[in-house]
Amino acid sequence: MPDVRMITAKRILTRQKGGFLTEGPYPYTHTLSWAVGCGFGSIYCGQYCYASAFPNWLYNKQPGEQWGDAVILKENAPELLDAELAKAKNRHEMRIFMSSVTDPYQPLERRYRLTRRCLDVFAQYRDLDLLIIQTRSPLVIDDIDRIAAIPYAWLSMTLETDRGDLPYGPSANHVRQRLEAVTAAARAGCQVQITVSPCMPYTPDFADLLAASGAQRVVVDTFVDGDGSQGHRTAASPFAEQADYNWRATDPARALYESLRGRGLAVGWSAAGFGGIPPRQHVLI
Ligand code: SF4
Repeated sequence: MPDVRMITAKRILTRQKGGFLTEGPYPYTHTLSWAVGCGFGSIYCGQYCYASAFPNWLYNKQPGEQWGDAVILKENAPELLDAELAKAKNRHEMRIFMSSVTDPYQPLERRYRLTRRCLDVFAQYRDLDLLIIQTRSPLVIDDIDRIAAIPYAWLSMTLETDRGDLPYGPSANHVRQRLEAVTAAARAGCQVQITVSPCMPYTPDFADLLAASGAQRVVVDTFVDGDGSQGHRTAASPFAEQADYNWRATDPARALYESLRGRGLAVGWSAAGFGGIPPRQHVLI
């Protein structure tokens, strides 16, 4: 388990002024991360996680700490969120991505319930445009009723592959649990998307599994398109040494994207896919 430290933050919503989350047709306006660091930093995705090089971690970690060694919790995140939403002038335009530099359902959530308490705040404000809850954790299953009750919330589940045998990917158990969480959330009435991000080697059944999962959208991404540096960040990461395939090749991800089209679900590519959920008023017109 990572070392846990607490801070009292001054703000919780970070306005987006550029970057990956603003490059789609419907950009995000804010991110929400209640932690500095990530409790999943010591598992496979921590090997290529671009957030490990971001200043908020580098300036706040202690000497010698590696990504995944510590998580700094913004213990007042729900109260700050309530205050910032209460005074926001254009709430109906707010499109929030939770979270871009940590996972809202990392194991610590089971104890501290900061995501749950933030969801309870969002539930009091019915007029936002979009809240994406981006996770790779089946722990989200604990909150699917809360997510379903927020009209602008989407569960967005990362699923890089349906293979559980990759030494640099999720276990078979985790693949199964994530798909089960997606299906359960969809059945509970949640809006759900799956992000194949970054796309890793997959079986011939992957497109069928995604199409049958209950998700309404699938976003396919690659290390080259999605790491913010055309693959340079990934090339410098420990993952690049572990990978036993050409992770720079985007054709397999393109093939998956093409094979998902025409199956009754929305399919998006990289930044355009992440930023591809239309504003709610567009949907209503
Ligand atoms: S869950 Fe996300 S933020 Fe956390 S280590 Fe993995 S890729 Fe990075």
